[in-house]
Order: sequence, then C-alpha cells, then structure tokens
Amino acid sequence: MEEEPESFQTDDDFVWICQYCGVKNSVWVDLTVDGKQDFVEDCRICCRPNRIIVTKDIENNAFAESRPLDE
Ligand SMILES: [Zn+2]
Repeated sequence: MEEEPESFQTDDDFVWICQYCGVKNSVWVDLTVDGKQDFVEDCRICCRPNRIIVTKDIENNAFAESRPLDE
C-alpha cells in the first residue's frame, strides 16, 4: 500500500514584474510563514521599490503579485 508523502513546499522563488519598467525579477519567499506576506523589493534594473504580496490559497499554493509602492 502506497501513501503520498506529505511534502509541503517550505520555500520558493517567485517571479514578479516590476510595475515601473516591466522587467521580470525573482524573489525568494519563505513559505513557512503563515498567511499573507507583504514586503518591498527593489527592481534589479530600475531600482524602484515594488510592493510584493504573497498569498496562499486553501490548498496552500502560494502566489506572488507586485504592486506599485505608491498605490
Ligand atoms: Zn524596474
């Protein structure tokens, strides 16, 4: 009898799009943190700060989205 191992992702790299110049950046996210994560990352090209919001759905899949910081 086979059982699926309980393998929850504990960290991942997420791609986010700079809201100012449109370039793709990636950020490492610690998925052991519960709930929503909200932090600021600087674009590697234009160096402008973007707000990154990481949310999880009911199946514990995480999604990252970027927003302009001054929104
Ligand atoms: Zn940029």
